Amino acid sequence: MAGGIVHTELVGVLRDVVGPAGWLDPTDAVGMVVDFRGLFSGEPVAIVRPGTVDEVRAVVRACAATGVAIVTQGGNTSLSGGSVPTDDRPSVLLSTSRMNRILSVDPARFTITAEAGCTIEQVQQAAAAVGLQLGMDWGARGTATVGGAVSTNAGGLNVLRYGPARDSVLGLEAVLADGEVFDGLRALRKDSTGYDLKHLFIGGEGSVGVVTRVVLRLHPRQDHHRTMFAALSELEAIHELFAMACARDHAGLTAFELVPEIGVAGTISTFGVTRPLATEAEWYLLARFSGTSPVDTTVEGFLVDAVDAGLVVDAAVAGTAVQEENLWMMRDELPPETLFDAKGAKFDAAVPIDRLAEFQRAAEAMVTEMCGDDGLVYSFGHLGDGNLHLYVVSSLERGSRMDPVLVDEVTAAIDGLIRDMGGTVSAEHGVGQELLDRVGRQKSAVELDLMRRVKAALDPDDLFNPGRGAHCAPVPEVEAAEAT
Ligand SMILES: Cc1cc2nc3c(=O)[nH]c(=O)nc-3n(C[C@H](O)[C@H](O)[C@H](O)COP(=O)(O)OP(=O)(O)OC[C@H]3O[C@@H](n4cnc5c(N)ncnc54)[C@H](O)[C@@H]3O)c2cc1C
Repeated sequence: MAGGIVHTELVGVLRDVVGPAGWLDPTDAVGMVVDFRGLFSGEPVAIVRPGTVDEVRAVVRACAATGVAIVTQGGNTSLSGGSVPTDDRPSVLLSTSRMNRILSVDPARFTITAEAGCTIEQVQQAAAAVGLQLGMDWGARGTATVGGAVSTNAGGLNVLRYGPARDSVLGLEAVLADGEVFDGLRALRKDSTGYDLKHLFIGGEGSVGVVTRVVLRLHPRQDHHRTMFAALSELEAIHELFAMACARDHAGLTAFELVPEIGVAGTISTFGVTRPLATEAEWYLLARFSGTSPVDTTVEGFLVDAVDAGLVVDAAVAGTAVQEENLWMMRDELPPETLFDAKGAKFDAAVPIDRLAEFQRAAEAMVTEMCGDDGLVYSFGHLGDGNLHLYVVSSLERGSRMDPVLVDEVTAAIDGLIRDMGGTVSAEHGVGQELLDRVGRQKSAVELDLMRRVKAALDPDDLFNPGRGAHCAPVPEVEAAEAT
């Protein structure tokens, strides 16, 4: 009851802080309390949409005074359940959706300064308007925000060329647990004056502060690019193909993606797009070369070499913007949740880049042995980063659901495979709520302890996103016993 009174008072304070424009009744914002995949949800004490840094500070101070947690939400496209309220503890959902202004674009410095709630697409468009481009890009670009991308250290389609979100951030500003502001909003390329504190917030999944503004690095726009779609002779060709593409023009290779035939067939039947090649293969390569001058010779040379070496059996190069858009649909729409509404075991695995085909084949063998006809491996991903989005589903029938016990068994087995291959269970989707146990088995007790100490130093009362993020992962039993 006391909690109820405290929350009623808090709600009153928060309403005053953010005003009518920043106030949302949870019953009017159902989409904000459930995650993108419909797996996690929670009931917040309140949903606030502060419009300024000062309002964020006031929200943080009011919550800290009452011990009510804060879960920060950007576009709510998290694929690990990190962006929705928790029911484990009373929490306020702080949405950055009103902090969505581009503050400055500076072509001389190759930088853009944006509020955390700007979408990736908004930043891409502002950069394009001055003849520059942002390094970051992925399918959820129209909804995912700068704050979310920074907080998950998002990857995407251009990591090969521009690195993950961490490499795009030059500076950031964040509101801390005591309401103070960390002003790291610098646009410097180099600064060796001690710990680079912005990195605690990058990939921090909202656990150490609310990121409010970010300075992002921009790049010269590459007006010339060619996207190609190639049928592979076999999956095992990919590493040699990658080496061949890098040798031809490493700096110009901006995407190198793996697409399965089952995904192509699903995209064609769902969206009615035209099949890009007459030849059907089990696997395809979707790749792009870009440059400030024409790249046609590069693409042609690469494909001729690839065909001569027997790695590619057929290929098409997009000649128009429409053709290019169609090819990218074969990649953007691939997750089985979106294409088939099929749910099962999900892996955002990264392994050393030369072991990707080996990983896929080993996972297929495991699934055949464990599930027989009740399991199907569906993979696609960022070949050039060694990052495979691998799903195990019972079938690609619309709405299929895999037996939860089998999901757990398959998850444990394939996670073991990832660890044995020196990989990670979360290459770019963060840890959120979903991967806590799984990431705990990947980290040493010492590493987890260091993370906890960082969290305790910055957020001693566990105000921000409690129970989410790698620092909350349980120490595996064997490690815990050895440590005592
Ligand atoms: C169709 C689709 C395709 C995708 N493809 C990719 C891909 O290729 N690569 C990839 O990396 N990801 C991908 N994602 C995942 C997702 O888009 C990214 O994780 C993205 O960075 C999340 O941004 P968001 O604004 O939606 O953040 P949210 O989902 O709202 O939040 C994600 C996490 O960041 C925290 N957070 C958000 N904003 C802030 C802030 N201002 N301050 C502090 N913490 C904050 C949240 O608390 C949460 O822990 C995809 C998602 C979808 C739906």
